[in-house]
Amino acid sequence: MKIICPICGKPLVKQERSALCEQRHCFDYAKSGYLNLLRSSGGDHGDNAAMVQARTAFLNTGAYAFLRETVTSLLAEEPVGVFADLGCGEGYYTAACPGEEKYGFDLSKAAVTKASKTDRTTQYAIASIFHLPLPDSSVDAALTCFAPAAGEELERILKPGGRFVFVQPAARHLYELKDVLYEDPYENDETPPVLPESLHMEKERIITRMFHADNASLMNLFQMTPYAYKTGAEGKARLEEVPFLDITASFVVRVYRRAGSSSIS
Ligand SMILES: [Zn+2]
Repeated sequence: MKIICPICGKPLVKQERSALCEQRHCFDYAKSGYLNLLRSSGGDHGDNAAMVQARTAFLNTGAYAFLRETVTSLLAEEPVGVFADLGCGEGYYTAACPGEEKYGFDLSKAAVTKASKTDRTTQYAIASIFHLPLPDSSVDAALTCFAPAAGEELERILKPGGRFVFVQPAARHLYELKDVLYEDPYENDETPPVLPESLHMEKERIITRMFHADNASLMNLFQMTPYAYKTGAEGKARLEEVPFLDITASFVVRVYRRAGSSSIS
């Protein structure tokens, strides 16, 4: 196991149902197998159970399967020893990604619980992607889908020559849904994330598909996106009256490489 103590940075060693460092900082494994690396339990971090449930139901329709295929095939272009999914959610993408040793990190307890129950190929942990419990230069490939890019941490954890795949919504992503919700729908900003100079972009693809969503699927989609917070009751009421909708799914997928010679270990 590569995971290090988030307090002192020393390696964590599994002992029965806990993980301990040499300074005796102790973290518990949940029944489902994930590791909770947050010591404070103040408040509910990340996506709540209702959002996770809605997202799982929506992803199970297969509407975003083409994104998962694109991400996994890009990653599989080179051998992946250690893989880390930063902002892994319920592990929909993580589970399908290549890697001899896989890690998934997210702040949402509900999401990580779901991920660790369904995917036994990955060690999941509740941890911040801006304070990753991984050693320097330890990761061959990292992924972030729909979460901020943790630039400085990526620079630190990636091996020289290691890759980072970053996914963000493209301009027209879910436009038809926004057209129902808002008076003046807007396009998404496709500006790349600001990353340290040592990370160079090698590939950029925009992938687009239409999908058909029935009303149940629309309501799930609504609940799993930021629109649930931004939209007034009127927009939601309009959506509840829509029997089905053909919607654009469109993503920008970028592959970055950390400077330095590639080495697979
Ligand atoms: Zn420690």
